[in-house]
Amino acid sequence: MTTEVEMSRMSWTDYAEAIATRDPAVLIPVGSVEQHGPHLPLATDCLIPEAIAKAAARRTGAIVAPTISYGYKSVPRCGGGQHFCGTTSVDAATLIGQLRDIVRELARHKVTKVSFVVGHMENLWFVTEACDLALREVKMLGLEAPRLMNVGYWEFLSKPTIEKAFDGTFPDWSLEHAGIMETSIMLHCHPELVKMERLTEHGPATLPVYDLWPYDTAQVPDTGVLNTAKGASAAKGKLFYDEYVQSFSDALVDAFGKSPSIR
Ligand SMILES: [Zn+2]
Repeated sequence: MTTEVEMSRMSWTDYAEAIATRDPAVLIPVGSVEQHGPHLPLATDCLIPEAIAKAAARRTGAIVAPTISYGYKSVPRCGGGQHFCGTTSVDAATLIGQLRDIVRELARHKVTKVSFVVGHMENLWFVTEACDLALREVKMLGLEAPRLMNVGYWEFLSKPTIEKAFDGTFPDWSLEHAGIMETSIMLHCHPELVKMERLTEHGPATLPVYDLWPYDTAQVPDTGVLNTAKGASAAKGKLFYDEYVQSFSDALVDAFGKSPSIR
């Protein structure tokens, strides 16, 4: 039996054996290629859910499918917007179609439990739509419908941890783009990719509560950082990461039940 958790690194025979004998959940990180300020890499929204999914898979016996790297368009209020060089997004229909097709393929493999682990807020409702369409298609094809979970990983952070790490200055998740949480986790998981010396101190961006098109790019900080990441640290990153991994692992057991694949 293989102990590998990454589908892309398994042979088809090892993967088939795992599905047939252990009935593992398959976890699919869904990220973006999006500016995350001058200090974080464009793939930040892929790298964080990928790290959490791999750790949760090692705990629970799940398998991590390759990350969906391109996400839905960046919205100014939570991602800075589409006007940044490097931000590379796909239309909703493209994203939904790809996710729906992957669920159908996993159902054909006889996977019975799938969880999307979303790293980019703008993706969330399109993942929900893909789950709905996939279930409809799978049933029409006469395949057994898998159970599907969709979660933005940041949802797992508890209030006490937020209070402790932000010291009462937590803005809200949408303004945390490239801020303390993402920067801290990256310092914990991929420190070689973080350039802290490029950060400046500033408060949260003041953006309207509505969306407007074309939007006013002047309202978005030039750096793309919606709330300063000064104060980010690897220690905070470990605090966040450990809680995400534990809570996501617990959620997998809650949602899918204990089975040979959930150790
Ligand atoms: Zn992000």
